[in-house]
Amino acid sequence: MKLILLGAPGAGKGTVSKLLTAIDGSVQISTGDILRGAVKAQTDLGKKAQGFMSRGELVPDSLIMGIMEKRLQEDDCQKGFLLDGFPRTIPQAEALNELLLKLDIKLDMAVNLDVPRETIMERLTTRRTCSNSSCQEIYNIKSKPPKVEGICDKCGSPVVQRDDETPNVIGQRLDSYNEKTAPLANFYEKEGLLKSVDATVTEDVINFIKKQLQS
Ligand code: ADP
Ligand code: ZN
Repeated sequence: MKLILLGAPGAGKGTVSKLLTAIDGSVQISTGDILRGAVKAQTDLGKKAQGFMSRGELVPDSLIMGIMEKRLQEDDCQKGFLLDGFPRTIPQAEALNELLLKLDIKLDMAVNLDVPRETIMERLTTRRTCSNSSCQEIYNIKSKPPKVEGICDKCGSPVVQRDDETPNVIGQRLDSYNEKTAPLANFYEKEGLLKSVDATVTEDVINFIKKQLQS
């Protein structure tokens, strides 16, 4: 499958993507994970991105498009991909359209994960992430704690709160979502690709997407 996942931070894009990869071997492409990996490794990209990220601001479109142009041409994307956290702005969506045209790739749909704002705040403050940059498994201290407190079930690395998951930075991320990313729903509606689903329960989202892909 070739999907874009839209939705606020904390809507569940990462969790849903990870579950979808198990269905048909499509890969999850999370620009957030790629950027956090780059910051940790202190690559050129990481050094350029880290200030924006720690403030909860978006990283410039040109950096993001550089990442995506390379990533979409890697072999593992042949079976399909789940775009998680990209595109994030109208210019990114326009640039993605051009890139897909150039690579002769057609999207199945853009799925908008709808979650009430209170739920989002609650999820983001209780979320924890595996600190191993090649794992980045997501946990929640209330609904999905690791089996051993503070330790990743998958790889044994420490599970931590992300630097950008303090209340102030979360507020900034939600503002930038509302201003820059929320308009993408309208963009993909016009493209005839938008499907919206209530994402309060993850399983409902998976079932919805499966059904949409069959029809
Ligand atoms: P979330 O969706 O939970 O906010 P992500 O892991 O997707 O978190 O992104 C973390 C940070 O990485 C963002 O706040 C932003 O600074 C940067 N980022 C990720 N993807 C993009 C993108 N497509 N465009 C611009 N910045 C991005
Ligand atoms: Zn891990």
